[in-house]
Amino acid sequence: MTTPLDIALPNHDFPDLAPGSVWLVGAGPGDPGLLTLLALHALRRADVVVYDALVDERILACANPEAVREYAGKRGGKKSPSQPDISNRLIQLARAGGRVLRLKGGDPFVFGRGGEEALALVAAGVPFRIVPGITAGIGGLAYAGIPVTHRSVNQAVTFVTGHSVTGDLPDELDWAALARAPVLVFYMALKHLPGIADRLMARGRDGATAVALVGKAATPAQRVLETTLACAAADAARSGIEPPVLIVMGEVVRLRAGLDWLGAAEGRVLDPDPLAPALPNRAG
Ligand code: SAH
Repeated sequence: MTTPLDIALPNHDFPDLAPGSVWLVGAGPGDPGLLTLLALHALRRADVVVYDALVDERILACANPEAVREYAGKRGGKKSPSQPDISNRLIQLARAGGRVLRLKGGDPFVFGRGGEEALALVAAGVPFRIVPGITAGIGGLAYAGIPVTHRSVNQAVTFVTGHSVTGDLPDELDWAALARAPVLVFYMALKHLPGIADRLMARGRDGATAVALVGKAATPAQRVLETTLACAAADAARSGIEPPVLIVMGEVVRLRAGLDWLGAAEGRVLDPDPLAPALPNRAG
């Protein structure tokens, strides 16, 4: 059978998702077009797909129709399975001879606990492979027209989680250092946005810093809210923006006026010089 993979890479031998092994695969931020070819290959070959809440239904639809789909997240108010439960389940499925695909949103090694699951497989002697995905903090922001780096703006980008194991803001974060970082990309931070903004401003970050919240990035329900550090928490609450949400802070956010390519497709006029200083207000 000829598949899109054969057409895309006629001379490439894809590695085998062998019975008794597990592939930990990133599904990207949402748009099925952002799957890697290896992810698609694994979806075609797997006997069982163990997936998380952030994996888009359109991506699961790419799985072999005979594959069993197992949801490993929270559903209908039920408690979500613990991390050891999920790892044990992967081991059990592999030991039963399954070709196991563990599918995660974004990239499995970016705030995705992929390392923890892989280490459990190592301890159990189960062969595994990692298939990186496009992380939401890069690809999802690109769908909002926000580049994580731009030569004249920032030479570094910092990825931060707003959520520790306990659900609180992580205490190990060095807020003074974060306040100085040119561009910050926060995952899992919507709930703690008021505390995050207060801490950054208390360490000297300008309240006028450009901030964007990108909800459901790279899906048909994508929503972008542009604000400032001082107004972010109140604007987010007022907007009712729903998770998953990325929060990005720094001058790169202003590039969206020039790079909102999705908006342009709907008629937005893009500014080719979005970083130009605003003209002085002559009337005032
Ligand atoms: N491994 C994932 C991140 C998992 S943590 C990755 O690499 O992207 C979950 C957080 O990711 C969410 O709270 C949110 O901040 C972010 N996220 C994932 N998918 C997203 C999407 N489509 N839109 C906005 N944020 C997303």
